[in-house]
Amino acid sequence: MTSVKDIQASMRSTEQADLALVKKAYDFSELAHKDHARYSGEPYFTHPAAVAKLLAEAGADAETIAAGLLHDTVEDVGVLPETIETEFGRDVRFLVEGVTKLGHHKYRGAERHAESLRRLLVATSEDVRVLLVKLMDRYHNMTTLDAVPSDKRRRIALETLEIYAPIADRLGMGWVKKELEDMAFPYVDPDAYAHTREIMKQKSKETFEGLQKVRALLQRELAHAGIKSFRTDQRVKGLYSLYTKLERKKKDITQVYDVAALRVIVPESQDCYAALGVVHRLFKPLPGEIKDYIAFPKPNGYQSIHTTVVTPQAGIVEVQIRSEAMHKAAQYGIASHMSYKELGDRGKDAFRALSSAWLSGLLPLLSKKTGKVASPASPAWLKELAEAHDTLASSEEFIAGMKEDFFEHRVFVFTPNGDVVDLPLGASPLDFAYAIHSDIGNHTVGAKVNGKLVALDTNLANGDRVEILTRPSGKPNRKWLEYVKTSLARKHIRGALNEREEAAREEERRKR
Ligand code: MN
Repeated sequence: MTSVKDIQASMRSTEQADLALVKKAYDFSELAHKDHARYSGEPYFTHPAAVAKLLAEAGADAETIAAGLLHDTVEDVGVLPETIETEFGRDVRFLVEGVTKLGHHKYRGAERHAESLRRLLVATSEDVRVLLVKLMDRYHNMTTLDAVPSDKRRRIALETLEIYAPIADRLGMGWVKKELEDMAFPYVDPDAYAHTREIMKQKSKETFEGLQKVRALLQRELAHAGIKSFRTDQRVKGLYSLYTKLERKKKDITQVYDVAALRVIVPESQDCYAALGVVHRLFKPLPGEIKDYIAFPKPNGYQSIHTTVVTPQAGIVEVQIRSEAMHKAAQYGIASHMSYKELGDRGKDAFRALSSAWLSGLLPLLSKKTGKVASPASPAWLKELAEAHDTLASSEEFIAGMKEDFFEHRVFVFTPNGDVVDLPLGASPLDFAYAIHSDIGNHTVGAKVNGKLVALDTNLANGDRVEILTRPSGKPNRKWLEYVKTSLARKHIRGALNEREEAAREEERRKR
Protein backbone atom coordinates (compact mmCIF):
# COMPACT_ATOMS: atom_id res chain seq x y z
CA MET A 1 0.00 0.00 0.00
CA THR A 2 1.28 3.43 -0.95
CA SER A 3 1.77 5.37 2.28
CA VAL A 4 1.10 9.06 2.68
CA LYS A 5 4.86 9.48 3.23
CA ASP A 6 5.52 7.93 -0.20
CA ILE A 7 3.20 10.45 -1.80
CA GLN A 8 4.55 13.42 0.10
CA ALA A 9 8.12 12.45 -0.70
CA SER A 10 7.29 12.56 -4.43
CA MET A 11 5.66 15.98 -4.22
CA ARG A 12 7.32 19.00 -5.70
CA SER A 13 5.99 21.27 -2.99
CA THR A 14 7.39 21.03 0.51
CA GLU A 15 5.06 23.61 2.01
CA GLN A 16 3.31 22.60 5.20
CA ALA A 17 -0.16 23.55 3.97
CA ASP A 18 0.27 21.40 0.85
CA LEU A 19 1.58 18.40 2.76
CA ALA A 20 -1.26 18.74 5.27
CA LEU A 21 -3.92 18.89 2.55
CA VAL A 22 -2.63 15.66 1.03
CA LYS A 23 -2.46 13.96 4.44
CA LYS A 24 -6.03 14.97 5.21
CA ALA A 25 -7.29 13.69 1.85
CA TYR A 26 -5.37 10.46 2.36
CA ASP A 27 -6.97 9.77 5.74
CA PHE A 28 -10.43 10.81 4.53
CA SER A 29 -10.29 8.54 1.48
CA GLU A 30 -8.86 5.58 3.36
CA LEU A 31 -11.74 5.74 5.81
CA ALA A 32 -14.36 6.27 3.08
CA HIS A 33 -13.22 3.22 1.10
CA LYS A 34 -12.51 0.95 4.06
CA ASP A 35 -15.31 -1.54 3.32
CA HIS A 36 -14.56 -1.93 -0.38
CA ALA A 37 -12.26 -4.14 -2.37
CA ARG A 38 -10.99 -4.11 -5.93
CA TYR A 39 -11.54 -6.93 -8.43
CA SER A 40 -8.16 -8.26 -7.37
CA GLY A 41 -9.34 -8.56 -3.77
CA GLU A 42 -6.98 -5.81 -2.59
CA PRO A 43 -8.41 -3.01 -0.43
CA TYR A 44 -10.00 -0.43 -2.74
CA PHE A 45 -7.93 2.37 -1.25
CA THR A 46 -4.76 0.96 -2.86
CA HIS A 47 -6.10 2.45 -6.11
CA PRO A 48 -6.60 6.14 -5.18
CA ALA A 49 -3.36 6.05 -3.19
CA ALA A 50 -1.46 4.79 -6.25
CA VAL A 51 -3.12 7.43 -8.46
CA ALA A 52 -2.06 10.16 -6.00
CA LYS A 53 1.53 8.91 -6.07
CA LEU A 54 1.58 8.99 -9.89
CA LEU A 55 0.24 12.54 -9.84
CA ALA A 56 2.86 13.63 -7.33
CA GLU A 57 5.61 12.10 -9.48
CA ALA A 58 4.29 13.91 -12.53
CA GLY A 59 4.68 17.22 -10.69
CA ALA A 60 1.01 17.96 -10.01
CA ASP A 61 0.07 20.44 -7.29
CA ALA A 62 -1.36 19.51 -3.88
CA GLU A 63 -5.00 20.08 -4.88
CA THR A 64 -4.67 17.76 -7.85
CA ILE A 65 -3.05 15.11 -5.66
CA ALA A 66 -5.84 15.47 -3.09
CA ALA A 67 -8.37 15.09 -5.90
CA GLY A 68 -6.52 11.93 -6.98
CA LEU A 69 -7.01 10.52 -3.50
CA LEU A 70 -10.68 11.47 -3.42
CA HIS A 71 -11.62 10.81 -7.05
CA ASP A 72 -13.79 7.75 -6.42
CA THR A 73 -15.38 8.79 -3.14
CA VAL A 74 -18.41 10.52 -4.69
CA GLU A 75 -19.22 7.84 -7.24
CA ASP A 76 -18.37 4.73 -5.23
CA VAL A 77 -19.12 5.47 -1.59
CA GLY A 78 -21.57 8.36 -1.84
CA VAL A 79 -19.57 11.15 -0.26
CA LEU A 80 -21.35 14.43 -1.01
CA PRO A 81 -19.57 16.97 -3.20
CA GLU A 82 -20.54 19.58 -0.60
CA THR A 83 -18.60 17.65 2.02
CA ILE A 84 -15.52 17.63 -0.19
CA GLU A 85 -15.84 21.37 -0.65
CA THR A 86 -16.16 21.99 3.09
CA GLU A 87 -13.21 19.77 3.92
CA PHE A 88 -10.88 20.46 0.98
CA GLY A 89 -12.04 23.60 -0.77
CA ARG A 90 -13.79 24.45 -4.02
CA ASP A 91 -11.04 23.46 -6.43
CA VAL A 92 -10.71 19.96 -5.05
CA ARG A 93 -14.48 19.54 -5.23
CA PHE A 94 -14.47 20.75 -8.82
CA LEU A 95 -11.72 18.32 -9.79
CA VAL A 96 -13.39 15.35 -8.10
CA GLU A 97 -16.72 16.16 -9.72
CA GLY A 98 -15.01 16.60 -13.08
CA VAL A 99 -13.46 13.15 -12.88
CA THR A 100 -16.75 11.68 -11.60
CA LYS A 101 -18.67 13.13 -14.54
CA LEU A 102 -16.33 11.42 -16.96
CA GLY A 103 -17.86 8.46 -15.27
CA HIS A 104 -18.32 4.84 -15.95
CA HIS A 105 -20.20 4.76 -19.22
CA LYS A 106 -19.43 1.82 -21.44
CA TYR A 107 -17.04 2.30 -24.28
CA ARG A 108 -18.00 0.42 -27.44
CA GLY A 109 -15.80 1.71 -30.22
CA ALA A 110 -16.84 4.34 -32.70
CA GLU A 111 -20.30 5.04 -31.37
CA ARG A 112 -18.97 5.65 -27.90
CA HIS A 113 -15.77 7.23 -29.09
CA ALA A 114 -17.57 10.49 -29.65
CA GLU A 115 -19.22 10.37 -26.26
CA SER A 116 -15.94 9.68 -24.47
CA LEU A 117 -14.20 12.52 -26.22
CA ARG A 118 -17.09 14.86 -25.64
CA ARG A 119 -17.21 14.18 -21.91
CA LEU A 120 -13.49 14.53 -21.68
CA LEU A 121 -13.51 17.84 -23.50
CA VAL A 122 -16.34 19.32 -21.53
CA ALA A 123 -14.78 18.36 -18.22
CA THR A 124 -11.33 19.45 -19.27
CA SER A 125 -12.32 22.73 -20.78
CA GLU A 126 -12.93 24.04 -17.27
CA ASP A 127 -9.72 22.86 -15.69
CA VAL A 128 -7.05 20.83 -17.42
CA ARG A 129 -6.10 19.19 -14.13
CA VAL A 130 -9.21 17.02 -14.42
CA LEU A 131 -7.55 15.36 -17.39
CA LEU A 132 -4.38 14.70 -15.42
CA VAL A 133 -6.29 12.92 -12.67
CA LYS A 134 -8.26 10.93 -15.22
CA LEU A 135 -5.11 9.94 -17.11
CA MET A 136 -3.42 8.66 -13.96
CA ASP A 137 -6.65 6.92 -12.89
CA ARG A 138 -6.68 5.11 -16.22
CA TYR A 139 -2.96 4.42 -16.02
CA HIS A 140 -3.29 2.66 -12.69
CA ASN A 141 -6.39 0.77 -13.79
CA MET A 142 -4.45 -0.49 -16.80
CA THR A 143 -1.69 -1.87 -14.56
CA THR A 144 -4.30 -4.03 -12.86
CA LEU A 145 -6.43 -4.87 -15.91
CA ASP A 146 -5.78 -8.59 -15.56
CA ALA A 147 -8.03 -8.74 -12.51
CA VAL A 148 -10.98 -7.18 -14.37
CA PRO A 149 -13.67 -9.52 -15.80
CA SER A 150 -12.72 -10.49 -19.34
CA ASP A 151 -15.77 -8.96 -21.03
CA LYS A 152 -14.76 -5.54 -19.72
CA ARG A 153 -11.08 -5.84 -20.40
CA ARG A 154 -11.11 -5.34 -24.15
CA ARG A 155 -13.49 -2.41 -23.91
CA ILE A 156 -11.29 -0.60 -21.40
CA ALA A 157 -8.14 -1.38 -23.37
CA LEU A 158 -9.70 -0.11 -26.60
CA GLU A 159 -10.78 3.13 -24.99
CA THR A 160 -7.28 3.54 -23.59
CA LEU A 161 -5.72 3.06 -27.00
CA GLU A 162 -8.15 5.24 -28.91
CA ILE A 163 -8.78 8.03 -26.44
CA TYR A 164 -6.37 8.25 -23.55
CA ALA A 165 -3.07 7.48 -25.26
CA PRO A 166 -3.59 10.12 -27.98
CA ILE A 167 -4.53 12.66 -25.34
CA ALA A 168 -1.45 11.87 -23.27
CA ASP A 169 0.50 12.41 -26.47
CA ARG A 170 -1.26 15.67 -27.17
CA LEU A 171 -0.36 16.88 -23.70
CA GLY A 172 3.27 15.95 -24.32
CA MET A 173 3.29 13.19 -21.70
CA GLY A 174 5.53 10.81 -23.60
CA TRP A 175 6.00 8.03 -21.09
CA VAL A 176 2.29 7.94 -20.20
CA LYS A 177 1.39 7.59 -23.88
CA LYS A 178 3.92 4.82 -24.44
CA GLU A 179 2.91 2.82 -21.40
CA LEU A 180 -0.82 3.20 -21.95
CA GLU A 181 -0.39 1.93 -25.50
CA ASP A 182 1.76 -1.01 -24.53
CA MET A 183 -0.54 -2.04 -21.68
CA ALA A 184 -3.61 -1.89 -23.94
CA PHE A 185 -2.11 -3.46 -27.07
CA PRO A 186 -2.20 -7.16 -26.00
CA TYR A 187 -5.91 -6.90 -25.06
CA VAL A 188 -6.95 -5.05 -28.19
CA ASP A 189 -5.10 -7.16 -30.76
CA PRO A 190 -3.41 -10.21 -29.21
CA ASP A 191 -2.13 -11.58 -32.54
CA ALA A 192 -0.52 -8.35 -33.70
CA TYR A 193 0.94 -7.92 -30.24
CA ALA A 194 2.54 -11.38 -30.21
CA HIS A 195 3.88 -10.88 -33.72
CA THR A 196 5.35 -7.46 -32.98
CA ARG A 197 6.93 -8.72 -29.79
CA GLU A 198 8.63 -11.49 -31.75
CA ILE A 199 10.02 -8.97 -34.25
CA MET A 200 11.24 -6.80 -31.41
CA LYS A 201 12.97 -9.73 -29.75
CA GLN A 202 14.91 -10.66 -32.87
CA LYS A 203 15.75 -7.11 -33.74
CA SER A 204 16.89 -6.07 -30.29
CA LYS A 205 19.21 -9.05 -29.85
CA GLU A 206 21.31 -8.03 -32.85
CA THR A 207 21.06 -4.34 -32.05
CA PHE A 208 21.90 -4.11 -28.38
CA GLU A 209 25.41 -5.47 -28.22
CA GLY A 210 26.44 -3.18 -31.03
CA LEU A 211 24.67 -0.31 -29.39
CA GLN A 212 26.73 -0.72 -26.22
CA LYS A 213 29.90 -0.28 -28.26
CA VAL A 214 28.55 2.75 -30.05
CA ARG A 215 27.55 4.24 -26.74
CA ALA A 216 31.00 3.75 -25.20
CA LEU A 217 32.66 5.32 -28.23
CA LEU A 218 30.30 8.25 -28.20
CA GLN A 219 30.80 8.86 -24.48
CA ARG A 220 34.53 9.07 -25.00
CA GLU A 221 34.27 11.49 -27.91
CA LEU A 222 31.77 13.74 -26.14
CA ALA A 223 34.08 14.00 -23.16
CA HIS A 224 37.00 14.76 -25.49
CA ALA A 225 34.99 17.51 -27.11
CA GLY A 226 34.63 19.15 -23.72
CA ILE A 227 30.91 18.57 -23.30
CA LYS A 228 30.57 18.32 -19.55
CA SER A 229 28.17 16.39 -17.36
CA PHE A 230 26.20 14.78 -20.18
CA ARG A 231 24.62 11.38 -19.79
CA THR A 232 23.57 8.76 -22.29
CA ASP A 233 20.97 6.06 -22.26
CA GLN A 234 19.19 3.71 -24.60
CA ARG A 235 15.53 3.76 -25.26
CA VAL A 236 13.56 0.95 -26.81
CA LYS A 237 10.61 1.80 -28.96
CA GLY A 238 7.21 0.90 -27.52
CA LEU A 239 5.66 -2.21 -29.06
CA TYR A 240 2.51 -0.47 -30.21
CA SER A 241 4.54 2.36 -31.64
CA LEU A 242 6.70 -0.19 -33.50
CA TYR A 243 3.54 -1.90 -34.76
CA THR A 244 2.06 1.30 -36.22
CA LYS A 245 5.41 2.23 -37.76
CA LEU A 246 5.69 -1.21 -39.35
CA GLU A 247 2.22 -0.75 -40.80
CA ARG A 248 3.35 2.54 -42.32
CA LYS A 249 6.57 0.98 -43.69
CA LYS A 250 4.70 -1.90 -45.35
CA LYS A 251 5.86 -4.26 -42.59
CA ASP A 252 9.51 -3.89 -43.63
CA ILE A 253 11.53 -3.94 -40.41
CA THR A 254 14.71 -2.91 -42.24
CA GLN A 255 13.06 0.46 -42.87
CA VAL A 256 12.56 1.10 -39.15
CA TYR A 257 15.72 2.74 -37.82
CA ASP A 258 14.60 3.62 -34.34
CA VAL A 259 13.69 0.27 -32.76
CA ALA A 260 16.40 1.17 -30.31
CA ALA A 261 17.85 4.63 -30.06
CA LEU A 262 20.76 6.18 -28.25
CA ARG A 263 19.95 9.20 -26.19
CA VAL A 264 22.41 11.92 -25.28
CA ILE A 265 21.17 14.25 -22.54
CA VAL A 266 23.19 17.42 -22.07
CA PRO A 267 22.84 20.22 -19.48
CA GLU A 268 21.81 23.10 -21.75
CA SER A 269 20.12 23.42 -25.11
CA GLN A 270 23.17 25.01 -26.76
CA ASP A 271 25.14 21.87 -25.90
CA CYS A 272 22.75 19.90 -28.13
CA TYR A 273 24.26 21.27 -31.32
CA ALA A 274 27.81 20.71 -30.09
CA ALA A 275 26.87 17.11 -29.32
CA LEU A 276 25.32 16.75 -32.76
CA GLY A 277 28.65 17.85 -34.25
CA VAL A 278 30.45 15.14 -32.30
CA VAL A 279 27.98 12.47 -33.42
CA HIS A 280 28.32 13.45 -37.07
CA ARG A 281 32.11 13.60 -36.91
CA LEU A 282 32.08 10.07 -35.54
CA PHE A 283 29.42 8.52 -37.78
CA LYS A 284 28.02 9.42 -41.18
CA PRO A 285 24.44 10.65 -40.95
CA LEU A 286 21.74 9.43 -43.34
CA PRO A 287 20.73 12.36 -45.51
CA GLY A 288 17.19 13.56 -44.88
CA GLU A 289 17.02 11.87 -41.47
CA ILE A 290 18.17 14.80 -39.36
CA LYS A 291 15.24 16.34 -37.51
CA ASP A 292 15.70 19.48 -35.48
CA TYR A 293 12.73 19.49 -33.13
CA ILE A 294 14.50 22.13 -31.06
CA ALA A 295 14.15 24.77 -33.76
CA PHE A 296 10.85 23.22 -34.90
CA PRO A 297 9.14 21.56 -31.93
CA LYS A 298 6.43 18.96 -32.59
CA PRO A 299 2.87 20.22 -32.14
CA ASN A 300 2.78 18.78 -28.62
CA GLY A 301 5.89 20.72 -27.66
CA TYR A 302 8.36 17.86 -27.96
CA GLN A 303 11.94 19.08 -28.42
CA SER A 304 15.09 17.11 -29.31
CA ILE A 305 17.43 16.63 -32.22
CA HIS A 306 17.06 13.27 -33.96
CA THR A 307 19.67 12.04 -36.36
CA THR A 308 20.12 8.63 -37.94
CA VAL A 309 23.72 7.53 -38.45
CA VAL A 310 25.54 4.57 -39.93
CA THR A 311 27.78 2.84 -37.40
CA PRO A 312 30.23 0.02 -38.08
CA GLN A 313 29.30 -1.50 -34.71
CA ALA A 314 25.50 -1.58 -34.82
CA GLY A 315 24.43 -0.63 -38.31
CA ILE A 316 21.90 2.16 -38.65
CA VAL A 317 21.18 3.83 -35.30
CA GLU A 318 18.99 6.74 -34.30
CA VAL A 319 20.59 9.21 -31.90
CA GLN A 320 18.38 11.62 -29.93
CA ILE A 321 19.99 14.67 -28.40
CA ARG A 322 18.22 16.84 -25.84
CA SER A 323 18.80 19.00 -22.77
CA GLU A 324 17.80 17.95 -19.26
CA ALA A 325 14.83 20.32 -19.37
CA MET A 326 13.67 18.92 -22.71
CA HIS A 327 14.01 15.41 -21.34
CA LYS A 328 11.83 16.16 -18.38
CA ALA A 329 9.25 17.93 -20.54
CA ALA A 330 9.17 14.94 -22.92
CA GLN A 331 8.28 12.63 -20.05
CA TYR A 332 5.68 14.66 -18.21
CA GLY A 333 4.63 17.30 -20.71
CA ILE A 334 1.99 19.63 -19.47
CA ALA A 335 2.32 18.41 -15.89
CA SER A 336 5.96 19.35 -15.69
CA HIS A 337 4.99 22.97 -16.22
CA MET A 338 2.22 23.17 -13.70
CA SER A 339 4.14 24.90 -11.00
CA TYR A 340 3.64 28.63 -11.00
CA LYS A 341 6.90 29.26 -9.25
CA GLU A 342 8.87 27.63 -12.01
CA LEU A 343 7.03 29.58 -14.66
CA GLY A 344 8.03 32.82 -13.02
CA ASP A 345 11.68 32.33 -13.93
CA ARG A 346 11.09 31.40 -17.52
CA GLY A 347 9.87 34.71 -18.74
CA LYS A 348 8.03 35.54 -21.89
CA ASP A 349 10.85 34.85 -24.29
CA ALA A 350 11.06 31.25 -23.25
CA PHE A 351 7.38 30.86 -24.02
CA ARG A 352 7.84 32.00 -27.58
CA ALA A 353 10.12 29.11 -28.22
CA LEU A 354 7.49 26.64 -27.14
CA SER A 355 5.28 25.12 -29.77
CA SER A 356 1.66 25.90 -30.25
CA ALA A 357 -0.16 23.07 -28.53
CA TRP A 358 2.25 23.17 -25.70
CA LEU A 359 1.60 26.82 -25.20
CA SER A 360 -2.11 26.25 -25.15
CA GLY A 361 -1.65 24.25 -21.99
CA LEU A 362 0.45 26.99 -20.49
CA LEU A 363 -1.66 29.87 -21.63
CA PRO A 364 -3.76 30.23 -18.49
CA LEU A 365 -0.67 30.04 -16.34
CA LEU A 366 0.90 32.81 -18.32
CA SER A 367 -2.19 34.91 -17.87
CA LYS A 368 -1.99 34.24 -14.18
CA LYS A 369 1.35 36.00 -14.22
CA THR A 370 -0.28 39.13 -15.53
CA GLY A 371 -3.02 38.67 -12.97
CA LYS A 372 -5.92 37.99 -15.29
CA VAL A 373 -6.93 34.41 -14.62
CA ALA A 374 -7.20 33.00 -11.13
CA SER A 375 -7.03 29.26 -11.67
CA PRO A 376 -5.25 27.03 -14.12
CA ALA A 377 -8.19 26.78 -16.47
CA SER A 378 -7.81 24.88 -19.70
CA PRO A 379 -6.64 25.93 -23.09
CA ALA A 380 -9.15 28.06 -24.91
CA TRP A 381 -9.18 25.68 -27.84
CA LEU A 382 -10.49 22.90 -25.63
CA LYS A 383 -13.36 25.04 -24.48
CA GLU A 384 -14.19 26.16 -28.00
CA LEU A 385 -14.13 22.58 -29.16
CA ALA A 386 -16.31 21.35 -26.37
CA GLU A 387 -18.89 23.98 -27.15
CA ALA A 388 -18.73 23.54 -30.89
CA HIS A 389 -19.12 19.81 -30.67
CA ASP A 390 -21.73 19.83 -27.99
CA THR A 391 -24.39 20.48 -30.56
CA LEU A 392 -23.18 18.11 -33.25
CA ALA A 393 -25.69 15.38 -33.89
CA SER A 394 -23.84 12.47 -35.41
CA SER A 395 -20.90 10.68 -33.91
CA GLU A 396 -19.03 10.46 -37.19
CA GLU A 397 -19.30 14.16 -37.71
CA PHE A 398 -18.02 14.67 -34.22
CA ILE A 399 -15.04 12.40 -34.69
CA ALA A 400 -14.18 13.96 -38.03
CA GLY A 401 -14.37 17.43 -36.53
CA MET A 402 -12.42 16.27 -33.55
CA LYS A 403 -9.59 14.90 -35.63
CA GLU A 404 -9.31 18.13 -37.52
CA ASP A 405 -9.62 20.48 -34.60
CA PHE A 406 -7.98 18.59 -31.84
CA PHE A 407 -4.92 17.64 -33.77
CA GLU A 408 -4.78 20.71 -35.93
CA HIS A 409 -2.15 23.29 -35.15
CA ARG A 410 -2.99 26.53 -33.49
CA VAL A 411 -1.10 29.79 -33.66
CA PHE A 412 -0.25 31.77 -30.58
CA VAL A 413 0.29 35.47 -30.97
CA PHE A 414 1.00 38.24 -28.52
CA THR A 415 -0.67 41.50 -27.63
CA PRO A 416 1.59 44.56 -27.30
CA ASN A 417 1.77 43.96 -23.53
CA GLY A 418 2.68 40.32 -23.85
CA ASP A 419 -0.59 38.47 -23.30
CA VAL A 420 -1.12 35.41 -25.44
CA VAL A 421 -4.02 34.96 -27.84
CA ASP A 422 -4.82 31.48 -29.07
CA LEU A 423 -6.09 31.31 -32.69
CA PRO A 424 -6.60 28.67 -35.37
CA LEU A 425 -3.96 28.27 -38.07
CA GLY A 426 -4.48 30.80 -40.87
CA ALA A 427 -6.08 33.40 -38.60
CA SER A 428 -5.74 37.08 -39.58
CA PRO A 429 -5.30 40.30 -37.59
CA LEU A 430 -9.11 40.62 -37.72
CA ASP A 431 -9.54 37.31 -35.88
CA PHE A 432 -7.10 38.67 -33.34
CA ALA A 433 -8.98 41.97 -32.99
CA TYR A 434 -12.30 40.22 -32.42
CA ALA A 435 -10.69 37.81 -29.98
CA ILE A 436 -9.65 40.80 -27.87
CA HIS A 437 -13.02 42.55 -27.99
CA SER A 438 -15.85 42.99 -30.48
CA ASP A 439 -15.54 46.77 -30.18
CA ILE A 440 -11.92 46.62 -31.22
CA GLY A 441 -12.82 44.33 -34.12
CA ASN A 442 -15.65 46.55 -35.27
CA HIS A 443 -13.50 49.68 -35.35
CA THR A 444 -10.35 48.23 -36.87
CA VAL A 445 -8.74 50.32 -39.59
CA GLY A 446 -5.34 48.66 -39.77
CA ALA A 447 -2.89 46.27 -38.11
CA LYS A 448 0.79 46.04 -37.31
CA VAL A 449 2.60 42.74 -37.00
CA ASN A 450 5.96 42.91 -35.24
CA GLY A 451 5.90 46.66 -35.67
CA LYS A 452 5.16 46.67 -39.42
CA LEU A 453 1.89 47.65 -41.06
CA VAL A 454 0.25 44.65 -42.75
CA ALA A 455 -2.87 43.91 -44.79
CA LEU A 456 -5.91 42.74 -42.84
CA ASP A 457 -5.89 39.36 -44.60
CA THR A 458 -2.32 38.52 -43.52
CA ASN A 459 -1.90 35.03 -42.02
CA LEU A 460 -0.56 35.34 -38.49
CA ALA A 461 2.38 33.18 -37.43
CA ASN A 462 3.36 31.77 -34.06
CA GLY A 463 4.97 34.35 -31.84
CA ASP A 464 3.80 37.37 -33.87
CA ARG A 465 3.26 40.54 -31.87
CA VAL A 466 0.02 42.05 -33.14
CA GLU A 467 -1.20 45.59 -32.68
CA ILE A 468 -4.62 46.72 -33.90
CA LEU A 469 -5.21 50.27 -35.09
CA THR A 470 -8.74 51.52 -34.46
CA ARG A 471 -10.70 54.65 -35.24
CA PRO A 472 -14.21 55.55 -33.97
CA SER A 473 -15.33 55.86 -37.60
CA GLY A 474 -13.93 52.43 -38.57
CA LYS A 475 -16.45 49.76 -39.51
CA PRO A 476 -16.57 46.22 -40.94
CA ASN A 477 -17.10 45.57 -44.63
CA ARG A 478 -18.32 42.47 -46.43
CA LYS A 479 -14.82 41.55 -47.65
CA TRP A 480 -13.82 40.92 -44.04
CA LEU A 481 -15.89 37.74 -43.97
CA GLU A 482 -13.33 36.22 -46.35
CA TYR A 483 -10.43 37.30 -44.16
CA VAL A 484 -11.44 35.60 -40.93
CA LYS A 485 -11.09 32.02 -39.67
CA THR A 486 -12.86 32.12 -36.32
CA SER A 487 -16.62 31.81 -36.00
CA LEU A 488 -16.48 34.48 -33.31
CA ALA A 489 -15.17 37.10 -35.73
CA ARG A 490 -17.59 35.99 -38.44
CA LYS A 491 -20.51 36.29 -36.05
CA HIS A 492 -19.61 39.84 -35.02
CA ILE A 493 -18.93 41.00 -38.56
CA ARG A 494 -22.28 39.61 -39.77
CA GLY A 495 -23.98 41.23 -36.81
CA ALA A 496 -22.46 44.62 -37.56
CA LEU A 497 -23.26 44.36 -41.28
CA ASN A 498 -26.86 43.39 -40.58
CA GLU A 499 -27.26 46.26 -38.18
CA ARG A 500 -25.95 48.67 -40.74
CA GLU A 501 -28.24 47.36 -43.47
CA GLU A 502 -31.16 47.54 -41.10
CA ALA A 503 -30.27 51.16 -40.31
CA ALA A 504 -29.93 51.96 -44.01
CA ARG A 505 -33.39 50.50 -44.75
CA GLU A 506 -34.83 52.49 -41.88
CA GLU A 507 -33.28 55.60 -43.39
CA GLU A 508 -34.85 54.78 -46.78
CA ARG A 509 -38.26 54.36 -45.20
CA ARG A 510 -38.01 57.65 -43.42
CA LYS A 511 -37.02 59.48 -46.61
CA ARG A 512 -40.09 58.15 -48.44
MN1 MN B 1 -10.53 5.38 -10.13
